[in-house]
Amino acid sequence: MISVSQALDALFALTRSTDVEEVPLIEASGRVLARDVTARRDQPPFAASAMDGYAICESDHSQGQTLEVIGEAPAGHRFSGVISPGQAVRIFTGGVVPEGATRIIIQEDVTRVGDKITLGDRLEEASHIRPAGCDFQYGSTLAASRRLSPEDVALLASMNVPMVPVHRAPKVALISTGDELVMPGEVPKDDQIIASNTFGLHALLRSLGADARLLPIAPDRESGLRLCFDLAQDADLIVTIGGASVGDHDIVAQVMASTNTDAARSFYKVAMRPGKPLMAGRWGGTMMVGLPGNPVSAMVCGHVFLAPVVRAMQGLPAAPAPRDQASLTEDMGPNGPREHYMRALLTADGIRPFARQDSSLLTVLSSANALMVRPPHDGPHKAGTMMPYLPL
Ligand code: AMP
Ligand code: MG
Repeated sequence: MISVSQALDALFALTRSTDVEEVPLIEASGRVLARDVTARRDQPPFAASAMDGYAICESDHSQGQTLEVIGEAPAGHRFSGVISPGQAVRIFTGGVVPEGATRIIIQEDVTRVGDKITLGDRLEEASHIRPAGCDFQYGSTLAASRRLSPEDVALLASMNVPMVPVHRAPKVALISTGDELVMPGEVPKDDQIIASNTFGLHALLRSLGADARLLPIAPDRESGLRLCFDLAQDADLIVTIGGASVGDHDIVAQVMASTNTDAARSFYKVAMRPGKPLMAGRWGGTMMVGLPGNPVSAMVCGHVFLAPVVRAMQGLPAAPAPRDQASLTEDMGPNGPREHYMRALLTADGIRPFARQDSSLLTVLSSANALMVRPPHDGPHKAGTMMPYLPL
């Protein structure tokens, strides 16, 4: 058996990042920036008022000073003149600070009668002027690689970048295998069940920015599975589910072998619970990962293996799924020889694994909001011990 991190390294060795495409800004959120993007302007491009008030000269900044209002500078309409001592310009937030002005007196701090203002007795230190380029300057970069947040999109817009270079969303084809499986909504025979984890994995992959699609369920016959593989040849990643336990994993491996002779493929026994059987390979432009069929195993492997691979395909660093830590709410016995991803509930009190950990129980997985990670031979532990977990 190999460790989870060895298995993940083996997968990373098969992973290739997708090519780069330019997408309109409104489609960039959640995509991974592929190249540094550079600002082509300063922001703000001029000294701008941060308040509604009056632009004045420094020498007039004293209590009771009376000034003549000589014009207006609303946002988008520059006052073209120059202010001299004794003068003021009515200005609004975002307006260009007129030449000669060094500060804005907020409107609450003046009394205006006709074209005259008188400064009150509350004079502020702050100039209420945003200097040109105080947010970013020409040449400032937003560096790749990063998954673009809504905030990043706002910044790119401000930088006047209408098209964004991002990694193409990896095309992931999901193939369920098993004569016992039917699609949700179909009427199963009395010896059949509904394919479930394919849908969970599809949702997970989509949330990671992959272009995921479900292929028809493959029967437990080589010919049927080969047909599905043929349908998936344009994918960056084919994920098979099930048919990978000892005894029947040959189907997936044989189909891979027959698809192309120079396919690299491996079958790993990974020291993890749930999970264990994992297949991986690559031929040409397509990577293949074979996951176990048990619903919880498939979903856990989705978080532990597929998510890091799909992130790396999008150009993000090859790294395991990020973990957090929380304190155990109860004592725990020792762990066995395999890394255990326990379905757990995280609350303000700490983390508590569910009593039932069978790898077929989707109700428990759906109630869980964390996978508590126990390394091989970990523990026993007392309540209060800090434990790593993967957030769900
Ligand atoms: P296998 O890995 O094919 O031996 O399947 C292990 C268990 O998972 C069996 O009980 C299968 O019926 C079940 N299983 C396999 N694939 C799926 C699937 N896509 N959805 C739900 N259960 C599945
Ligand atoms: Mg099966």
